[in-house]
Amino acid sequence: MTQYAMVIDLKKCVGCGACALACKTENNTALRHAGQAHNFADFQHETSGKFPKTKYMTRPVLCNHCSNAPCVKACPVTPKAMFKTKDGITMHNDERCIGCRACQEACPYSKMDVKIGETSVISYTGDEGAPHDPFFTNKTEVIPGCTSSGAELAGKTDMPPHRTKYDHPDYKDVRRSNITEKCIFCEHRVKKGQEPYCVASCPARARIFGDISDPNSEVAQLVKKYKGTVLKPEKGTKPNVFYIRSYNAR
Ligand code: SF4
Ligand code: SF4
Ligand code: SF4
Repeated sequence: MTQYAMVIDLKKCVGCGACALACKTENNTALRHAGQAHNFADFQHETSGKFPKTKYMTRPVLCNHCSNAPCVKACPVTPKAMFKTKDGITMHNDERCIGCRACQEACPYSKMDVKIGETSVISYTGDEGAPHDPFFTNKTEVIPGCTSSGAELAGKTDMPPHRTKYDHPDYKDVRRSNITEKCIFCEHRVKKGQEPYCVASCPARARIFGDISDPNSEVAQLVKKYKGTVLKPEKGTKPNVFYIRSYNAR
């Protein structure tokens, strides 16, 4: 059985954020909703030690596509809106979701962590309109008399210009209000033989995607070679996002 997984090589990662920007453009996510971060691809940042012996760490985070996923168990609707695919992806169905947010409560990775910062493994779409609205209805020129406003740009291009359109049986390219949404490992791309867009966009090739059930795959080889770790293993969720090496070991 295929089990899709991602390896993040922290030694190669430079914390540039290209993966998060790529994700936002691919999946048309909002900047923030109700004051909360709204990122399928997010980061934890941590500074430790005392100057001049300080250490800084950036760790990209996303849905871990856990094999033993508490978000799926917590979802109260039948059939479940949060469910596992045969390829081991934790999938979300827009139509079935009632927006109760039980999945957010149950996910050990979707909570505020005061020490390492807010993460948003599962996001809530809220009722603030389509994610592009704030940009493309705005009539303010960033530099008056020099740059276009968002509304002017939208009027001259396809509306809205950066909306990626894709078809998925469970998932609209822009989700409706008042439901949850999260990383689906870009399943709409994977089924066409493409990599998730964060993987394709990483300039350092720090993100590697593949079938970890195949011992010859790159992901399986890397996890074995570098003794890959997962976040919060004590929760027993069996994540399929693995971290190798250290952000600081340059
Ligand atoms: S795009 Fe790659 S190098 Fe940049 S933050 Fe993301 S994982 Fe790290
Ligand atoms: S990281 Fe959270 S949302 Fe993703 S599969 Fe695990 S429990 Fe579910
Ligand atoms: S918010 Fe949607 S996916 Fe999450 S538990 Fe409720 S119905 Fe299920």
